[in-house]
Amino acid sequence: MPVSYSQAGDWVRAFATAVAENKDYLTELDSAIGDADHGINMNRGMQAVLGKIDGLSQPDVGALLKTVGMTLVSTVGGAGGPLYGTLFIQMGAAAAGKPELSPDDWAAALAAGVAGVRSRGKAELGDKTMVDALAPAVDALRAALDGGEAFDSALRRSAGAAEAGMKATIPLVARKGRASYLGERSAGHQDPGATSSWLLVLAAADAFAGRAGRS
Ligand code: ADP
Ligand code: MG
Repeated sequence: MPVSYSQAGDWVRAFATAVAENKDYLTELDSAIGDADHGINMNRGMQAVLGKIDGLSQPDVGALLKTVGMTLVSTVGGAGGPLYGTLFIQMGAAAAGKPELSPDDWAAALAAGVAGVRSRGKAELGDKTMVDALAPAVDALRAALDGGEAFDSALRRSAGAAEAGMKATIPLVARKGRASYLGERSAGHQDPGATSSWLLVLAAADAFAGRAGRS
């Protein structure tokens, strides 16, 4: 079964809930290697998103995701807003006009979103950014689907890969964003953006679990 329009909305709402629940945690992570605003920024953006997506009339997953991205760009300052905005806008472009997404469509949209983040932020794997959670999530999802796994379990693997990538940021020295100003002192702390990105990938596994892609 594909990801329906309403399930795509469930994913966005699940992410908003996870961000709200982890707002203080994300901000605490950002206080160690940034300016202590990542949770506040993301929560402001996702709360604004919730106010926008219920008013959409067309069951177009692409339009939904584009609206999420545009809202994040316009309501979230700092690095996170434009980067998450780009992620959703590029996912929306990949899903344009589609009332639902097959597992392959979903994987392709996520890959397009993450490619957008990489091209906008110029971060490579290992630079201690959200890319360290997102890129492994995309790769694991693709590999699991190619290996014939059911969508549910592919999404779980993708979330597991994001979690591992997030944890792997702890020893890294930041090479992008505000944390890079700290140089070696950024090592020993988990990256806040990689942490919110794990929540994003996990939210998809939760929102689609047991409903989409059961084989
Ligand atoms: P700011 O750093 O402007 O205060 P946030 O605190 O909202 O913005 O977000 C910080 C997160 O943004 C970092 O933890 C990192 O994951 C991510 N980030 C910063 N710069 C980049 C970049 N060039 N590419 C990818 N992600 C980045
Ligand atoms: Mg910050």
